[in-house]
Amino acid sequence: MSDCLFCKIIAGEIPSTKVYEDDNTYAFRDINPMAKTHVLVVPKQHIPSVGEIENVPDDVLAACLRTCRRVAECEGILQSGFRVISNCGKDACQSVQHLHFHVLGGQQLSENMA
Ligand code: 5GP
Ligand code: ZN
Repeated sequence: MSDCLFCKIIAGEIPSTKVYEDDNTYAFRDINPMAKTHVLVVPKQHIPSVGEIENVPDDVLAACLRTCRRVAECEGILQSGFRVISNCGKDACQSVQHLHFHVLGGQQLSENMA
């Protein structure tokens, strides 16, 4: 999608710090980290949010979750623990309308998720 920030990052039109990439997904460091480790995992296909995945192939969705695990492994937080969050829509404060999963860790995270 031509006016989507994350599509531009995936295409390399906007620079990012890559952590991992495969055929279906791209993972890069969040520009405004909320934890010691804060990586964003996105599908290369433009999907607006979790709210619009009805017709997305299962292998694309599975790849996103597997990449989250792989990122945790690469970042050395697989054993210590990490959190995966996907904000969807206004009440969740989604600010970029391209499906993404926040992978957070590298420190003790808060019990409060709301
Ligand atoms: P959301 O609020 O939609 O769940 O998450 C969007 C995330 O994208 C935010 O954590 C924000 O810091 C990150 N972000 C916004 N613009 C950029 C950018 O240009 N580069 C990178 N690496 N992250 C960005
Ligand atoms: Zn996009």
